[in-house]
Amino acid sequence: PAQPRERLRIALQKSGRLGDPARELLAAGGLTWRESRDRLFLYGESLPVDLLLVRDDDIPGLITDGVCDLGIVGRNVLVENSLALGAQGHRPLVEWRQLGWGRCSLDVAIGEDEEWTGPQQLAGLRIATSYPQILGRWLRQEGVEAQTVVLNGSVEIAPRLGQADLVCDLVSTGGTLRANQLRPVTTILDSEAVIAGPDQRLEDGRQEIADLLLGRLDGAMQLKE
Ligand code: ATP
Ligand code: ZN
Repeated sequence: PAQPRERLRIALQKSGRLGDPARELLAAGGLTWRESRDRLFLYGESLPVDLLLVRDDDIPGLITDGVCDLGIVGRNVLVENSLALGAQGHRPLVEWRQLGWGRCSLDVAIGEDEEWTGPQQLAGLRIATSYPQILGRWLRQEGVEAQTVVLNGSVEIAPRLGQADLVCDLVSTGGTLRANQLRPVTTILDSEAVIAGPDQRLEDGRQEIADLLLGRLDGAMQLKE
């Protein structure tokens, strides 16, 4: 079990697509902070809330381990890691809020000249992805047996390199897929940034801090609409 903590700790992406909008949201909710010398922490001044700046992929595990209480992360990363953590016997992580930005989708994409007749045509093929858990769940749901090739970057060039027959990758505009002669044929997950947290209340008074902060964030989000 994690050590007792009286300040709420939220994990954010250090840089990348979700880092700045996450900080803007917290600032709009009235949180002010000062930065630690090593730039890993932002210490909240206006509320007992500290921010931990990390790679997005680490956020679900930090919540599961109780190092952080909440995290701002893409649903794609949350679901992928929760499925893996769930398989290890950990409690599920859930979405405490949907934030409406950072939208993208996890799509299956095939060669631009190929015909799409449905998931069954993927049987026996090699699919490159950074999301083996989400892809595996979808393949099982569709009753398709295919081979998953796990790559942690440059997924969309795998077919050109002969590493895979098709890909399952994040798409927002489709430009990267098109540049690699691929076209999206089906979406397996719609994603946006979310506030992720445990499926139960926080302890040591941190739930009350979270309720206060989330109320302010809800207000800030309504004003923006
Ligand atoms: P990190 O260094 O933190 O691991 P990263 O390279 O994995 O960063 P980013 O590219 O910054 O991550 O993307 C973070 C999240 O932004 C994605 O997981 C996804 O939820 C969201 N996102 C929105 N649009 C896109 C897109 N077009 N491509 C990739 N991710 C997108
Ligand atoms: Zn990442």
